[in-house]
Amino acid sequence: MDFKNYINTLNTEVAYVKGVGEKRKIMLNKLSLYNIWDLAYNFPKDYEDRRLIFKICDIKEGEKCCFKASPLNKLMQKRIKSNIALCSLLVNDGTGVIFVKWFANPKYPVKIDYGEEYVFYGKAERNFGRLEFELILMEKADNTKSTLKIAPVYHLTKGITQKFLSDTIENALAKIDVFRDIFDDETRERYFLPSLDYSIRQMHSPTDMQELKKAKNRLIFEELFILQMSLLYLRRNREEKVCPVIDDISYKDEFESKLPFALTDAQKRTIDEVMFDLKKKKPGNRLVQGDVGSGKTVIAASAIYVCAKNNYQSAFMAPTEILANQHYENLKHMFGDEVKICLLTSATKGKNKLYEKIENGEFDVVIGTHAIIRDNVKFKNLILAVTDEQHRFGVNQRAKLSSKADACNVLVMSATPIPRTLALILYGDLDISIVNAMPKGRQKIDTFCVNDSYRQRAYSFVEKEIASGRQAYIVCPLVEDSESLDVMSSEKMFENLKNRVFPNRKVALLHGKMKANQKDEIMQSFKNGDVDILVSTTVIEVGVDVPNATVMVIENAERFGLSQLHQLRGRVGRGDYKSYCILFCNVKGDETRQRMDIMTKSSDGFEIAKKDLELRGFGEFFGTKQHGLPELKIANLFTDIEILKDAQGLCMEILKDDPNLKKEKNRLIYMRIKALFEKFDGNDIFN
Ligand code: ADP
Ligand code: MG
Repeated sequence: MDFKNYINTLNTEVAYVKGVGEKRKIMLNKLSLYNIWDLAYNFPKDYEDRRLIFKICDIKEGEKCCFKASPLNKLMQKRIKSNIALCSLLVNDGTGVIFVKWFANPKYPVKIDYGEEYVFYGKAERNFGRLEFELILMEKADNTKSTLKIAPVYHLTKGITQKFLSDTIENALAKIDVFRDIFDDETRERYFLPSLDYSIRQMHSPTDMQELKKAKNRLIFEELFILQMSLLYLRRNREEKVCPVIDDISYKDEFESKLPFALTDAQKRTIDEVMFDLKKKKPGNRLVQGDVGSGKTVIAASAIYVCAKNNYQSAFMAPTEILANQHYENLKHMFGDEVKICLLTSATKGKNKLYEKIENGEFDVVIGTHAIIRDNVKFKNLILAVTDEQHRFGVNQRAKLSSKADACNVLVMSATPIPRTLALILYGDLDISIVNAMPKGRQKIDTFCVNDSYRQRAYSFVEKEIASGRQAYIVCPLVEDSESLDVMSSEKMFENLKNRVFPNRKVALLHGKMKANQKDEIMQSFKNGDVDILVSTTVIEVGVDVPNATVMVIENAERFGLSQLHQLRGRVGRGDYKSYCILFCNVKGDETRQRMDIMTKSSDGFEIAKKDLELRGFGEFFGTKQHGLPELKIANLFTDIEILKDAQGLCMEILKDDPNLKKEKNRLIYMRIKALFEKFDGNDIFN
């Protein structure tokens, strides 16, 4: 197989794998499995050791196991429904006898070869005092495929079985002669890495636990290497760059004196840290972490003001149109006539004219959405690139913003804290400022966790708040149509509230599937007070400021991460009115109770994030894309930190030798990071 053929094969759609076809292709796509590459990298979530053969006399109740035996008498079938029969077969292995039971469709006769030996896999349960074996699968002992081995257990979706998926993966792997390695022999020896081909095949069909572990380590190393390489690739050459220097930072005091409130000490300190960046030749690269409502916007505004007064331009990027609008209004108000400011989103009219003006330096600051990273947007002398709610952007989107200047200072703002050690590794030379105090006079948002029996009371409470002129949010989790019915979908919720619960109030619905301008319109009318109750999915999670909203109701609160709940709660309590958060939770259990307790007791986002990490682990925390990085399939940023360090070292070596990854030997690495970015946010920075 030549290289081109190899790549084409990897990109072959799943529909062309033996046994799949169009119908099952759709189901595989639901699992994000689109081509042979995806199948190869769809690693099992777990394994079951089915190598050990039990004696029937040793089988224990409740434990999954295998045993080898022959049928003793004829299969019995009892029809339960028209299409379900209970089958039972008495078997014997010389140490004892046991009834094996399973359900089958009576339409398809079960064929048993009496006198032959079978391997049975399943679990023994006691039924009226007698041990019976609940069968998962059986196969002839002289031709086993799924038993007598370490069997992979894959993540599934409706309509896909373990057997189908493992067969499909096996068929996919058979199409590839050898998976080409991104590491050469020397590197593999140095880090004790088995070959890629060996590792992938080992993952799906392990020979033993030790070999499996080696394979897994190799793939973790590779995954972290690719992640690290892509981050470093984006930053390559940055180190040597020199950025214009801001001489006169005294304007920060001028700015401060115009504010209607006094800055908190945390804000002052962070502003000083940003000023330090601006004064240096080396471009600053700073992450500002601060809880929801800690006042991060004014920090960015201060830096923008100082740059503008020194005749340099800034860019300020927000993840949604509504947020960009809000920042625009806000900053315009703070700056008055002192700073020339413009708004650029996809909705902006007369873009070409605006582009021209930006390029001519007629604006000091451009505030906008992703629209500002388009190629047409060029700056005269950009010196500061700010990204708000950084976790909503991909790493390369952020990089693209700062690439609008030869060298410029970078400021990213986030309300979702990540531990410092990790941030340093992920972001390398990133400096971190923490806004660890709230503006004075903030009221605590009273938070209650209730079950359905309080629903009427909760609604009466919402009604009371609306009657006194306030507004409310009601948030539902995202629901996939196949999921259970007791989870409220926003649409159902909306219909019910609008028609039955609050027929005299203005209720609006906002969800992620709507078009951007539609969303913004609805959000705008909520902001203007034309809507009383906004029913929504988590699309309102980030930064929107509606001071008149005082109630946040969250349905199925157990389904959200704590940091996310905290973000949502932060949408209220932004004005002078006392505010409330009502968490509906009908799930019992210790962990849920503990998590809800944290929400009702704590109002500190950092503490909440820490507890969330403790309770749910890093996997969940980072699985929710709170960090703006591609999802990791196999590595764990917390437990695999040593491997990450090794991988980081190797990346730096390679980039030193070949900064643009153009050498033939690095071709596969280059292809992998390119693919990662395309998959992650569909944004190609490589042209
Ligand atoms: P976040 O950190 O969540 O982005 P914002 O920057 O949106 O917070 O600030 C939230 C609100 O607090 C805004 O209305 C802002 O004007 C106000 N604010 C910021 N700093 C202070 C302060 N020092 N004193 C009083 N209010 C402040
Ligand atoms: Mg904000």
